[in-house]
Amino acid sequence: MKPAPFAYHAPKTIEQAVAILAEVAPEDGRVLAGGQSLVPTMAFRLARPAHLVDINQVAGLDRLLVEGDALSIGACVRHAAFHRPGAPAPLGDLLAFVVRHIAHYPIRTRGTFCGSLAHADPASEWCVVAVTLGGEIKARSARRTRSIAAADLFQGLMTTALEDDELLEEARLPLLPSNTRWGFYEFSRRAGDYALAMALATFRLEDGVMVEPRLGLGGVEASPRRIPEAEALVAGKPPEIGIFRKAAEAAADVVDPLEDIQASGEYRRDLVRAVVRRALERATA
Ligand SMILES: Cc1cc2nc3c(=O)[nH]c(=O)nc-3n(C[C@H](O)[C@H](O)[C@H](O)COP(=O)(O)OP(=O)(O)OC[C@H]3O[C@@H](n4cnc5c(N)ncnc54)[C@H](O)[C@@H]3O)c2cc1C
Repeated sequence: MKPAPFAYHAPKTIEQAVAILAEVAPEDGRVLAGGQSLVPTMAFRLARPAHLVDINQVAGLDRLLVEGDALSIGACVRHAAFHRPGAPAPLGDLLAFVVRHIAHYPIRTRGTFCGSLAHADPASEWCVVAVTLGGEIKARSARRTRSIAAADLFQGLMTTALEDDELLEEARLPLLPSNTRWGFYEFSRRAGDYALAMALATFRLEDGVMVEPRLGLGGVEASPRRIPEAEALVAGKPPEIGIFRKAAEAAADVVDPLEDIQASGEYRRDLVRAVVRRALERATA
C-alpha cells in the first residue's frame, strides 16, 4: 500500500525544525529520521501523519563525538556508525558488538540510534543499552530544552516521555571505566529478527569480585529496564556460574513478560533465565 497523503517539511536548522514541529504537532506532525520504522507503518496505513518533519538535512545532527565523560550521539547518527568502535573501549567495543544484532545491513545504514529511542520498541537493542548504562537524552522544542534520563524516557509499549513537539536532539552514553566487563546476549528466531529477549550485563572486577553490576533486559516487558534484584545478587560476589544462575532465576521471577504471536509469557520468562546467565558469562569470558 501507499502512505496516506502528508505534507513534507525539510528544515535546514534545528531552530527551523522545532518551530515547524511546534506548528504541526497538534495535527499529528511527526519527525522523520531514518524512516525504517515510520515509513513501513505509514505504508500499511497504521500511521497517517498529516506532516513529516524530515530532520536529515538539519546541520549538525550527524555528530558522534566524545564530550567530557560521555559519548554524544546526534539525532541523525545511523546504526551503521557503530560498526567500528566510535568511542574509546570498552564502550566502543560494546556498541560495535550490539549493533550487529539490529536488523540487517541496509536498515542499519538508514535507521538512527535516536530514532530507536524515540520509537521505543520493547525489543530495541539501543533502548536496552541506554537504560542499562544510565544514558540520557536531550529533548528540544520551541519552548524549552530538557534532559531526560533513559530510565525515565520509556513509559510503556512504544511510548516515551517526549512531548509531541519535542525533538530528540541527542543521546548521551557515559564512557565506561577501562576495567569494565560487559556481556550482551540476545535470542531471536532468525538473525536480524527482533529479539524475543536480550540482556546486557556490565560490572567491574576488583579484587576478584563484581563491583557496581548493571543488568538490563529488553524484549521481555513493555519497556526495557534494569533488574535490581539480580544486580544485588551479583554485587560483591566472585564471577561464578552458581551466582549467575541465581541472578538469572531472580530476574525470571520478577519480570512481567509480554505475550504475543511470537512467544508466550512463560516462554519469554524461560528465555530470561538463559539470556541473563549468558550475558553474565560473556562478561566474564
Ligand atoms: C525489517 C526490519 C527489522 C528491524 N529490526 C530491528 C531490530 O532488530 N532492532 C531494532 O532496534 N530495530 C529494528 N528495526 C527498526 C530500525 O532499527 C529503526 O531504524 C528504528 O527503530 C527507528 O529509527 P529510525 O531512524 O528509522 O526512525 P523513524 O522510522 O524515522 O521514526 C520512528 C519513530 O520515532 C520518531 N522519531 C525518530 N527520530 C526522532 C527524533 N530525533 N526525535 C523525535 N522523534 C523521533 C518518529 O517520528 C517515528 O514516530 C527494524 C526495522 C525493520 C524495517
